[in-house]
Amino acid sequence: MTAAIIDGRAVAKRVQSEIRAGADQAAARLGRRPGLGVVLVGDDPASAMYVRMKQRACDRVGIQSSASILPASAAQSEVENAVRAFNADAAIDGILVQLPLPFSIDEAAVLNAIGLSKDVDGIHPVNLGRLGMRGREPTFTPATPTGVMRLIAESGIELAGKEAVVIGRSNIVGLPIALMLTNADATVTRCHSRTVDLPLVTRRADVVVAAVGQPELVKADWLKPGAVVIDVGSNAVPDPASEKGYRYVGDVDFAQAQAVAGWLTKVPGGVGPMTIAMLLANTLKAAQT
Ligand code: NAD
Repeated sequence: MTAAIIDGRAVAKRVQSEIRAGADQAAARLGRRPGLGVVLVGDDPASAMYVRMKQRACDRVGIQSSASILPASAAQSEVENAVRAFNADAAIDGILVQLPLPFSIDEAAVLNAIGLSKDVDGIHPVNLGRLGMRGREPTFTPATPTGVMRLIAESGIELAGKEAVVIGRSNIVGLPIALMLTNADATVTRCHSRTVDLPLVTRRADVVVAAVGQPELVKADWLKPGAVVIDVGSNAVPDPASEKGYRYVGDVDFAQAQAVAGWLTKVPGGVGPMTIAMLLANTLKAAQT
């Protein structure tokens, strides 16, 4: 079997052109472009790169982005005040706090400071709590998990009754993906670093979502033939052949998985572009409500 590739770049491009049209309509109605406020603390190069990518994506779809960039030495109150300033700014519809924050900063307090109506990253505890409760609707759902669900839906894959295994239990990826798959009526198992015999668990899954941060962890013999495999991982590995000296691989061994899976995402070009597209979609939604 050769897996069908789920093309995140193509889906993200389509989503972004829909957002562009929606942003133009919102701008005509509001008399200003939809606005995203980004808080970046410290000088982690990867975080700075993600923020630049998000700002460029905003430019492409007609969303105005503003950044509050603070040094790693910023006090807790300064970071929370940056969030509160965006809460109070009528030109800002959505707020993104780029994670991780420096160790000295209380992340929970910063995320709690985001106004619920501007939580376009969907990681306020109230939004995550609503996601996990029957009959409650979060205002926003987190970007990466929403992108994963959209890729599955766009591929015409039915989830009801399927066995799904999520590897990873982080607040921003593994947890919300598991909740969203449950809400789509899949039977979900959550695995993590203390799971005993991970391959035994993943082999029974119709759908595997890997969100671990371990390069090419998931091998061919971990997968049920025909499984849907969504690779969230994004890991830089040394590559002397590349100009930069490194390249990105996922948490799934792509070459091996391709021979067994029914559906498979690539890294790069799978979940990554969808994360940004879903952040923009949430920002537009915030401007429209
Ligand atoms: P995290 O470090 O917060 O969580 C990793 C999870 O994996 C933890 O729950 C841990 O228990 C589990 N884990 C670690 N080693 C394991 C092992 N050997 N076996 C089973 N489980 C194990 O990471 P995160 O923020 O959830 O990110 C996960 C991956 O997804 C990273 O590679 C990250 O770069 C990537 N990511 C990609 C996007 C995107 O847009 N493509 C967005 C967010 C995160």
